[in-house]
This record gives sequence, C-alpha cells and structure tokens, in this order.
Amino acid sequence: MKAAVLCEYGEPLSIEEVPEPTPDPHGVVIETEACGICRSDWHAWQGHGEWADDRVPLGQILGHEPAGRAVAVGEQVRDIEAGDRIAVPFNLGRGHCGYCQNGHGNVCEHGIALGFEEAAPGAFAERVHVPYADYNAVALPESVSPVEMAGLGCRFVTAYHALAHRADLTPGDWVAVHGCGGVGLSAVHVADALGANVVAVDLDDDKLVAARDLGADETLLVDSDTDVPTVIEARVGGADVSIDALGIAETCRNSIDCLRPRGQHVQLGLTTDEERGEVSLPTDAMTMREITFLGSRGMPPSRYDELLRMLDRGTLSPEKLVTNTVPLAKVPDRLAAMNDFETTGIEVVDFSLSSQNFGYKTIIYSDVKLIGMSSDGSTGGLSLRRAIIIGLLLLATPFVAFVLIAAALTADAGPGGWLLLVVAPLSLLSGIWSLTGDTDGMTRLFARFA
Ligand SMILES: [Zn+2]
Ligand SMILES: [Zn+2]
Repeated sequence: MKAAVLCEYGEPLSIEEVPEPTPDPHGVVIETEACGICRSDWHAWQGHGEWADDRVPLGQILGHEPAGRAVAVGEQVRDIEAGDRIAVPFNLGRGHCGYCQNGHGNVCEHGIALGFEEAAPGAFAERVHVPYADYNAVALPESVSPVEMAGLGCRFVTAYHALAHRADLTPGDWVAVHGCGGVGLSAVHVADALGANVVAVDLDDDKLVAARDLGADETLLVDSDTDVPTVIEARVGGADVSIDALGIAETCRNSIDCLRPRGQHVQLGLTTDEERGEVSLPTDAMTMREITFLGSRGMPPSRYDELLRMLDRGTLSPEKLVTNTVPLAKVPDRLAAMNDFETTGIEVVDFSLSSQNFGYKTIIYSDVKLIGMSSDGSTGGLSLRRAIIIGLLLLATPFVAFVLIAAALTADAGPGGWLLLVVAPLSLLSGIWSLTGDTDGMTRLFARFA
C-alpha cells in the first residue's frame, strides 16, 4: 500500500510502498477514507520535540486524523465488525488503567499517539491499524462524511474538549482565541456554538475573515507591535476564557494577560523550537488575580458521542472548516505550505482522489501549481483575480497554454479554470502567429473563433 513516510526532518515526506498492516488480537485495520493534515504533522516533520524526548522517529508514517471503514478485525475485538465506519482519536488509550476507566483515555498511562510513534504507524496511508479498538474506535453514523469526520480530528475535537470539558465556560462569557489556524478556527466555532462571545486574534486578515464566518463577534488584526491584552481589554473588557492555539511564547503570554480576574487560560498549541517546551509566565499576577492555567490534549474517545449528537443537530459543522481536499501525493506540499502559515482552515487528504496520485497527471499538476492554480482534484479552485493575472501572462507568453487547458479540463479548478480555458486558445493562436508570421491566415482564424 502507499503511505507518506518521514525520511528526513524538514525534507519532503516520501510517498512509498509499505507493507500492509495486520490487526493485533485487540486491533482493527481500517481502510482510510480521509485524514486531516495538521500542524502536529508539521511539528513532527520539522523534528520538533527532542527537548521533551518526544521527537517523532524517522521512518514514521505520519497522519493522525483518520476516518475510514474497518477491513480486518482482531479476534478479541467485540464491538466492531468489518465494514463499520470508524473515526479514531490520535491519543490512543489502552482502556485498562484508571484514567481510561474514568473517561480520560487521552492521558492514558500506557497511551500511544497515532502517527507519532513506531508502535502506531499513522494514517497518511491507504490502511491504518487501530490498537485496542474496542476502546479507541468511535463508530460513525453514515450521515457523517469521511471528509467531515477527518475535519473533526484532532483540531476540532481538541478545541471541543478544551472548551466543553476543560474550561468552565458559561454562555455569554468572552472567549479570546489567539491564532486562527485549524485549531484556533475550530475553537472559534465551538465557543460560538456553546453560547460564548468570541474575540479572534491573528496576523492574517484572511484567517480573521474565516473566523468571522465561523461566529467570531470581534476580530483583532495584529502586528508584532500590537499590545494585544490592552486592545482586548479596551474592546470587550477582557476575556473569561482565553486559548493559545499556537504555542508561541508571545501568544501564550498575551492569552494569560488578556484575562479578567479568575479567568482561565487553555494551552492548546505545543511550543516550537524557539521555546523548546518552556515559556516564562507572570506567576505573581496569576496568583493575585486567581488565573487558571489549563493544559488540554485531544479528547477521550468516550466523549465523542456528545460531539456527534451536536453534528447531527447541525449545532456544529466541522465541514465549514475544511478548505481543501487533496490526494495523498500532495501531503508533502501541503505540509511545506504550513512553513509560513499559508494554509487556512483544515486541509484533508481524501483517499478517493488518490487514484490521481501518480503518472502524467502529477507532472502536469505540479507545473500548474507553480503558478498557483488549485490542481489535481483539490477543491480550492482558482480565484478569478489570479486567473485574470495568469490569463494576461498567457497572452504575453504563447505556448504555455496547453498545460493550462489540460489542467482546467482535468482538475476541479473552479470558475478561474473556465476563464483560462477561453484565454488559452488565444495564447496558442498568437504563438503560431508569431512563429509563422502568417498574419493573414491567423486573422482569418481569429475571425472564425470570434
Ligand atoms: Zn489507560
Ligand atoms: Zn492533528
């Protein structure tokens, strides 16, 4: 089967053939239908975590947000049958310890992290093994699509667990969200659904537009000079609950400093190689003002039910966060796009697109991608503005047209793709014209097209 393997930190993941998994007696193998691409994958790819002895080993298959269908079931598994639809939290518990039995499998004594450890190869693979499946596998209703479910994990469930279970959130509270990547935008949507008021903070206006669409009442576009806590205090009087979704020292401090007395800070982002796991905090001020610092990690599988009920009722719509679906072959590129925080919302590998992964189409697509077109089945589409720019370039640069025609015909390139389809033949004609110098003939040809 094909899988995306971490071969060297910071080098593109390798898409390669790996052995098929077989189920342990307590495990199941699922055929992966979709898997989210997450900043945690990016951290693993960058080799972060060595400061906590938590560096992902080379040779690891990454991917920890799968949804799929069981295809092979271990003999000790009681509750799952082949064909069942399943989602899996990345924080796998064994199901036996006191934490698991009390509903806190996300901090299991013997827990393993799917896609981050040798014992748990990840789900950027056509099939993935889920250990201790009776405990870890969450049955999915048929009404939830695989892409929607992959959009749920881990960022959405992490945000949900943070706000619904960890923080003591009351409707009407102000929630500040620092950093509007996948987990931040999820937190905005969840906080809004739980009846809170939300102020979203980011450096990127596009992400704040998305935050507003997902229910943010206030958005705060900042630069490196902005005194974020002061502005939040001035705008909404301070936050009751504040989330650092990035794990950067400055956002962590801002999150704590923007709280009202008795406020709660929730740390969702893990730190980068700048902080190396340590951030200095205003402990005196936190003590004097009774500020709570909460860590929050994933979500126990036993709490998925309530989330699925909210999906069913339409209170939560994780699919709103899914901005792009790509085939497996595109995972290395999409991780690289996270280097400069270029991605918005949640991107998901859709394995039904994977038949397009290899061969000539990949070559055409990667050429097209250079000029910014959404390609190879990605659903992002090509913006009209970008298409007009490319169209003008095309008219000035004959003979590039055929690549774009091929892409527009075969990829879901959106309205921009269709526009280019009109412009590209003109480019081709002007190319022939300039080579042959047959102005009369070309004029007749143009007249026929016009
Ligand atoms: Zn346990
Ligand atoms: Zn994740």
